[in-house]
Parts: sequence; structure tokens; C-alpha cells
Amino acid sequence: MVSAEQLYEKLKDIHVGNPICQFTKENCELLLPTIERIEKLKREKNAIILVHNYVAPQIFYSVADFTGDSYGLSKNAKESDADVIVFSAVRFMAETAKILNPEKIVLDPNPNGGCSLADGITESDVIKLRQQFPDHTFVCYINTTAAVKAQCDVCVTSSNVYKIIEKIPNDKIYFLPDKLMGENVIQNLKAKGVNKNIELWDGTCYVHEEYQPESIDQVRRNFEDVEILVHPECSSAVVNKADYVGSTSQMLNHVRESERDSFFLLTECGLTGVLQSEFPQKTFAGSCTMCKYMKSNSLEDILNVLENPSPQNIIEIAPETQKRALQCVNRMFDYSDH
Ligand code: SF4
Repeated sequence: MVSAEQLYEKLKDIHVGNPICQFTKENCELLLPTIERIEKLKREKNAIILVHNYVAPQIFYSVADFTGDSYGLSKNAKESDADVIVFSAVRFMAETAKILNPEKIVLDPNPNGGCSLADGITESDVIKLRQQFPDHTFVCYINTTAAVKAQCDVCVTSSNVYKIIEKIPNDKIYFLPDKLMGENVIQNLKAKGVNKNIELWDGTCYVHEEYQPESIDQVRRNFEDVEILVHPECSSAVVNKADYVGSTSQMLNHVRESERDSFFLLTECGLTGVLQSEFPQKTFAGSCTMCKYMKSNSLEDILNVLENPSPQNIIEIAPETQKRALQCVNRMFDYSDH
């Protein structure tokens, strides 16, 4: 188990401009009793805790068994031999863990685990679209509910979306729900000379759609030699001005391997915090926006869900929906592996 000193070592360099992410040794000591109870329950219940890169750093660096982006965490969920999976992120990610592990207990500790993308399209929307576009392959971003995945052909994440859509043998694709990511895919394929007819649903991530290309111009003027990293949920205008586009884990690896010392990230604050902690010798400039859904996770809710989960915390998916959604997610693993 992490000690207060070890936790403070990890958190002390995080300064993302928000008081909830400023840490002192005293704060860390106050967290210890809750962390201790969570660790004890994990052992008793053979439970693991998966934590997304956007979740608050005091959770990320204390009780997590695995951290990462949706793709990496889905793989961890698939490979796990734990009886209980606690998914500290947002609802659709916990649902994805349940799709992959129907026999396990999957717990969602977050009472406010929405997502503007996942909440922007329903199963019946997709059923109607499939009637309208019968010849299209339906590709869904992982930020969708299990019911939506069950109506689609292939799932993708921000780390593999370009590669998988390019590989799909059908030239007619319906991509949902992220319009901005879809526009980036269209642009990326066009640049490679790949011509596909790609229809898009009109959804957005409320965090990433806010970023404007002008802020990149301003940063380049103010910081010489800065490297700009953006998430593919940003608009094409933003993506076009970036030096690197990738998922949160891809950005983390990119910073690890980059010879530059100064970076500007356009994505949710959690990643900036992780990078500040992991690479204290590097500089991370820039505005950062918090996702209210990801930041609703707390250590107290994780403890409660392990001690006494309410029916809302326990992920249940109807068997037929689970089976169909699993085919959709497994096709992603097949395309990624080959
Ligand atoms: S950052 Fe955007 S895509 Fe990610 S959970 Fe929040 S609303 Fe959804």
C-alpha cells in the first residue's frame, strides 16, 4: 500500500491551476485511512481498480491497479482474473468492462458518470440509421453505451480509430457519435489517398470541442520550441495546428520519448497532472479543462462501492445486448491485432 510520503512524492509536482489538484503532505496523510480500507477490501474481495488518465490524481496514484486510456483499460479488464472490477472513470467504460467480463461483478463508483458523447445517441437512433444506411459498416467510438455498441459492427478508441477505419474492407462507413473525430478521420484518410464515404453523427465531447486553433497560435508565440499535443476529439482546425495527435496514453508515451522539454496539451487536465508528476524536469504549459464527469470520482465512493454497492453501482447488461456488444468490441481487438 502507498504511504503518505510516497503519495505526496507523486502529487507534489502537479499544478494544473485548480485548487482541487494542489496537494500537501497533510492532505495525503488525511487520505490514508480511506486508502487503507480500500486496499483491505480489494484483498478480501479479489477486486481490482481500473482508473482512467482523466481521474483525480489522488485516486490515480493511490488505489489504482491499472491506469490508462479506454483501450488499455479494456484490455486490462479482458485479461483480469479478479472477481470484482471497480472502474473509476465514467459509465460507458464500466459497461465496456462488463461486456468483456459478463461473469464478473463490475462496479461503477461514480454517481455522475455521464459523457456528452455517450449520452448523445441512443440504441433506437442507431436502429433508425441502419435502416437509412443499409450498406454502411457502423463504427462506434468506445464512448457509447452497451446498447449502442450492440447495434454497431466495430468499436474503436481514440488510439486506433484511424487505423481500423482504414482497414475495414467496406468503403461506406457510418461513424458515431463523435463528429469532430470523424472529420479528423476523413481528413487523415484523404491525406493518405484513401477514399471512403464516411457519414457522421452530430455528437461532440463538451471538453474538447471548446479548444480553438487561436490558442495554439498564442502558445507558439509565447513559448519557443513548445511541442503541441492534442486529442482527436478536438476539431480539425485544432488538429491541423498540432505537432502530435493521439489518445491520452499515446500522448504520455510520446512525451516520454520526445527530446523536447516543453509541451502544451489540449485535452482534459488529468493527463497534464499525470505528466507533471511523471516528468517533473519537463514543462507543461497551457490551459486545461476539467471533465465534470471524470472529476466526479472520489476515494469515498470507491470505498462505498466496495463495502456496500447500491443497485445503481452494479453494472447489469441484458445477455443478448452483452453478446452483440461483445462481438462489436472483439472486432476492434481483431483489427488492432492484425
Ligand atoms: S472528457 Fe469528453 S469524452 Fe471524456 S468522459 Fe468527459 S465528456 Fe466524455
